[in-house]
Amino acid sequence: MNVVVEVYDTERPLTADVKKDGIHIPIPRPGILNVTPYVAGDSSIPGVRRIVKLASNEGALGPSPKAVAASRGNADSLCRYPDGGCSQLRAALGMRYGLDPARIVCGAGSDELIGILTRAYAGPGDEVLYSRYAFLMFPIIATANGATPVPAAERNLTADVDALLSKQTQKTRIVYLANPNNPTGTYLPYSEIKRLHAGLPGNVLLVLDAAYAEYMVAADYHDGLELAREAENVVVLHTFSKIYALAGLRLGWGFGSSRIIDVVNRVRGTFNVTATAQLAGLAALEDRAWTEKVRAHTITWRRWTVDALRRLGFDVPDGVGNFILCHFADVADADAADAFLRRRGLIVRKLGPYSLAGSLRITVGTEEEMRLLVDGLAAYRSGQPRPRAQ
Ligand SMILES: *Cc1c(COP(=O)(O)O)cnc(C)c1O
Repeated sequence: MNVVVEVYDTERPLTADVKKDGIHIPIPRPGILNVTPYVAGDSSIPGVRRIVKLASNEGALGPSPKAVAASRGNADSLCRYPDGGCSQLRAALGMRYGLDPARIVCGAGSDELIGILTRAYAGPGDEVLYSRYAFLMFPIIATANGATPVPAAERNLTADVDALLSKQTQKTRIVYLANPNNPTGTYLPYSEIKRLHAGLPGNVLLVLDAAYAEYMVAADYHDGLELAREAENVVVLHTFSKIYALAGLRLGWGFGSSRIIDVVNRVRGTFNVTATAQLAGLAALEDRAWTEKVRAHTITWRRWTVDALRRLGFDVPDGVGNFILCHFADVADADAADAFLRRRGLIVRKLGPYSLAGSLRITVGTEEEMRLLVDGLAAYRSGQPRPRAQ
């Protein structure tokens, strides 16, 4: 059964919970109390000194040193409001991708843009369509806005265009698709994206979340910017949290039709992106050599880790992005492996909230981190727990 639907049941009456004994208290808008808060990856373990964090898909080698320098360079100007329009950064993104900067909007992470788009285009009575094992933020934010998240079945942990299209109703307002998807690491070829778009009526917004696009080398992949350039109902989202490794600064961007971007600009906070994020983002974007180094590193060590885990007998599907899905025999096996790794200071991501509790998601880190991870899982597999002394 679909846990997401159970957890985010928007039909549950709210007033009974919050209006007790005739006492009147402020009641949030429909949907908000149905939200199960998003649980981010841990970053510490009590009693363990050295932590290897492979839980949140943050870039393997850290940000470009030029981005770090740019963020330090802003330290003396923290009293100044940022440019509310992110003009320099949008101009640079426009140049890089051949896009009209007026049709780009920046956000405090792409999560903020997902929030704004949902708030602007869907509310109570509306349906937000997503694929079964998609990024959890989609149903969470739909629920928070009082809309009904509607999951479509997947095939082999991959979004299925026919299933998505079959779930459309008169109430569908937004279709969210992370491509590639987190946490499954699967993607749809561009031909399938075009088929999905062609099957949607013009009044349904298609949001293509391309958080991992910068890692993609497959010839049949496209982030959808080309489609968004022509269509009135497509938005493509990118983030600086993954390959650019600036998750802590919160920076993402979206491109869409001028009408949609105009709506986002009305809803967003005037100064939603900090000056430091804008400067660091610009420097990161311009340091193409660093991005290339991270991409090459990630592909190499992803491959190495997948091969090593398979040799140990783990069930690791093919995938893309900067993370690896590893299937275990069952939930107990995955939980035991996670606990075993934690005793060695290795934090990976448990996927219970995604209804994939028998699997763990492992971010591709440095060479040393990948070797520690493989050593850890080898020791777990061999059934000889040898937790290292702290
Ligand atoms: C990490 C991630 C994001 C990025 O979120 P930010 O708010 O930009 O940090 C968006 N979508 C997916 C699918 C992700 O995995």
